[in-house]
Amino acid sequence: PGEVVTNVTAPEGPSGVLHVPPRLLMGPGPANSHPRVLAAQTLPLLGHMHPPFFKIMDEIQQGLRYVFQTNSKHVLMVSGTGHAGMEACIANLLEPGETIVVGNNGIWGSRVCDLAERYQAKVVNLQKEPGQTYSKDDLSKALEEHKPAVLFLTQGESSTGTHQNLAGVGELCRKHGTLLLVDTVCSLGGVPLFSDAWEVDAIYSGSQKCLAAPPGGAPLFFGERAFEKLQSRKSKVASYYFDLNLVGDYWGWYDKRFYHHTGMTSTWYGMREALALVANEGLDNMWARHQAVADHLWAGLRELNLEPFVEKPEDRLITVNTIKIPEGVDPVALVTNAMEKYNLEISGGLGGTVGKVWRVGLMGYNAKMENVEMVLAAFRDGLKKQGRL
Ligand code: PMP
Repeated sequence: PGEVVTNVTAPEGPSGVLHVPPRLLMGPGPANSHPRVLAAQTLPLLGHMHPPFFKIMDEIQQGLRYVFQTNSKHVLMVSGTGHAGMEACIANLLEPGETIVVGNNGIWGSRVCDLAERYQAKVVNLQKEPGQTYSKDDLSKALEEHKPAVLFLTQGESSTGTHQNLAGVGELCRKHGTLLLVDTVCSLGGVPLFSDAWEVDAIYSGSQKCLAAPPGGAPLFFGERAFEKLQSRKSKVASYYFDLNLVGDYWGWYDKRFYHHTGMTSTWYGMREALALVANEGLDNMWARHQAVADHLWAGLRELNLEPFVEKPEDRLITVNTIKIPEGVDPVALVTNAMEKYNLEISGGLGGTVGKVWRVGLMGYNAKMENVEMVLAAFRDGLKKQGRL
């Protein structure tokens, strides 16, 4: 007794060098990362409090201001995926007992309802059928009736393929003293967004879609009113990790730097590079590129007699496209064939769209004509195999 021996032996699995199969990720995300972003992530580590690393964080914030189209000082990257951004916004913008009206026309609204409940908010679930969006009239009525502290909307609903028009919604919210919070995880960089001009108060996003970086970072924007709310809270933010007073300190919001948690060194290298790519290409060009590939995709799909799931053209999202599954077609067989034959990811539905749609993502580094051709070839082949062409 007393002598301790390793009786759990070294595993077979994590030994040797890792290999992964090549895949073209044309589902709702993640999309493939730009090689320059991946290369940046292999650079040697800096300490998270070293001045050269602070410079990288500053550059990220400049890039975020550009992509969000804001002059707000209060932007940063939340450590974690899109959900981390979602949780940070809910935890910081709402105090217990306050009301949030949630535009719930897909899975992301449902998640926000769940999250807001956990932070003890009163949740008003403004439910819509998948494939529909909110008119100003819908929102005006809800604001009038509930006078919420926060209104939540999803700009790009990746589970249903809708694009929510945001123009004028900020103005409406201001009239009612409501903060407008928007999810842009699958739309930021792919479709126009003007945070300041549209008077949006808070936004979270994700790294792994139109920004062409791996998952792991959530861009976050707080406008002036959201920041004031944060500063004037009566209760402590219930999450330590996502308390933006503390995280903001580390990102230089308060003109000093304070260690909150270890900065995600390699992930932020990648984000710096991803945002440099955005700045180099220019947002107008990026938006036009995403639009052009989406137009090309739909021209090809219509030749295959495939139809959009979202009825109104103005409600259709171009970054995650939902395609109606025709009667009698086996959607899974088509998806499996795409993966087996083309190493290509096409996705099925999620939440309310399961069994109703395929989803094709055209985002960031993957938003290219040759990738659309590959997707169309996979649809053609998959339909042919089911005797549809
Ligand atoms: N919101 C939207 C619109 C999304 O598309 C996603 C990711 N599919 C999320 C939120 C959640 O992001 P993540 O999976 O990166 O946590």
